[in-house]
Amino acid sequence: MPDSNAQYRGRFAPSPTGPLHLGSLIAAVASYLDARSCGGTWLVRMDDLDPPREEPGAAQCILLSLQGHGLHWDESVMWQSERAPAYTAALEELATRDHLFCCDCTRAMLGPGGSCRGRCRPRQSAVNSPCSTRVSVPDNCQIHFTDQLQGPQHISLGEQFPDFVVKRKDRLDAYQLAVVVDDAEQAITHVVRGSDLLDSTPRQIFLQQLLGYRSPKYCHLPVITNSQGQKLSKQHHAPALDDKLAPANLRGALKFLQQTAPPLPLTTVQQILSFAIGHWSPRRIPATLAIPESSLVS
Ligand code: GLU
Repeated sequence: MPDSNAQYRGRFAPSPTGPLHLGSLIAAVASYLDARSCGGTWLVRMDDLDPPREEPGAAQCILLSLQGHGLHWDESVMWQSERAPAYTAALEELATRDHLFCCDCTRAMLGPGGSCRGRCRPRQSAVNSPCSTRVSVPDNCQIHFTDQLQGPQHISLGEQFPDFVVKRKDRLDAYQLAVVVDDAEQAITHVVRGSDLLDSTPRQIFLQQLLGYRSPKYCHLPVITNSQGQKLSKQHHAPALDDKLAPANLRGALKFLQQTAPPLPLTTVQQILSFAIGHWSPRRIPATLAIPESSLVS
């Protein structure tokens, strides 16, 4: 695990559900600049944990786009699809310490947000399959952390995310567990990602505490939203970036992040990124959860 003086290690962890779009480029650029401006290491991890949601070829397409935008990573890409033994080991560790239970509750039996009301708990030796595996969250569990952009966060985890799923009913490893195991394995010290994941962070900190991992620092960026207030995403038909327009795309991402615009004579991705590293100022990023796409038109 990293110690507090450890060198900065950041990462970008795309899900291969479609090609890179402006929203994902913004997260990639911000995490890259934050790492590079500290002389840190920047890693790419492919969150290919959920085959049903994947688009064939998307992972390679994302990696090519990152390179086309000059966002070259250190070390080798980590693939979550190859990490099942590590997730199983973490689950075994949690199970040994009695933090897990199996849940075969039907959707109708679950509470708001899919929370388990605990009806399955008294009959652990007789739960039906398929079942999910949940981690027990004490009712009074409070998680506090300071997001580097969004400020202090106080979450009553036991009320908001009681007994959340760490292994899904379809026996796929859940994102919340996988990300915690992988951030620890990669000794990540700083996580810079979209605000749509802000409510995942307390669950991740809780798992880090149970597993004895150090928590990284978190910075949740505003996400771009469309006219219906939905996050720009593949699901909501965000257009794929054209790698041939990489310099302009980078300028768009920097503008969104309210960074100093690179002077126009800088035309290559390398020139634009090296200017952006030298002028990186996270304090200029708006401390808000969402920015409508319509407000970006110059
Ligand atoms: N794979 C997640 C996504 O694309 C990001 C995970 C993370 O940064 O922790 O939304």
